[in-house]
Amino acid sequence: MVIETNSPEETFRTGKELGEKAVPGQVFTLTGDLGVGKTVFTQGLAKGLGIEEPVNSPTFTIVQVYDGGRLPFYHFDVYRIGDVEEMDEVGFEDYVMGDGVSLIEWANLIEEILPEKRTDILIEKDLERGFDYRRITIDQTR
Ligand code: ADP
Ligand code: MG
Repeated sequence: MVIETNSPEETFRTGKELGEKAVPGQVFTLTGDLGVGKTVFTQGLAKGLGIEEPVNSPTFTIVQVYDGGRLPFYHFDVYRIGDVEEMDEVGFEDYVMGDGVSLIEWANLIEEILPEKRTDILIEKDLERGFDYRRITIDQTR
């Protein structure tokens, strides 16, 4: 499925709709270049889960846990990961197998340990269609 947006608000709303529909154990991956809107999308998704706390990128930790919503939300940013084994240390498996909703930024870096059943999200710009244009591709793996 492809959704096109032309403002941060629309991207937020796309994330929010997915958050409202998210089910226990659902795993999202989120891929896209710096400044494309991954944080905006994630903030929308958290809002859709009923989380009122501010959500930002987990700068100093690999995972940030938000318990204030309808389901627990596990926000991963694995950009700084050196080796997939570091994911064992943070308990990745337990989060992903648990009843919360996981969202993993830079998931391509840990491809070999991703669950087979995922919702993959790719956000891309297309400058020919304007500075604020974003194409959001949502793929259910199975
Ligand atoms: P990332 O987390 O991918 O690095 P951010 O979400 O932090 O990116 O930033 C996205 C930036 O792009 C924000 O400054 C936002 O206002 C701007 N922006 C412009 N148009 C859009 C759009 N359609 N969707 C999302 N963000 C947009
Ligand atoms: Mg970000």
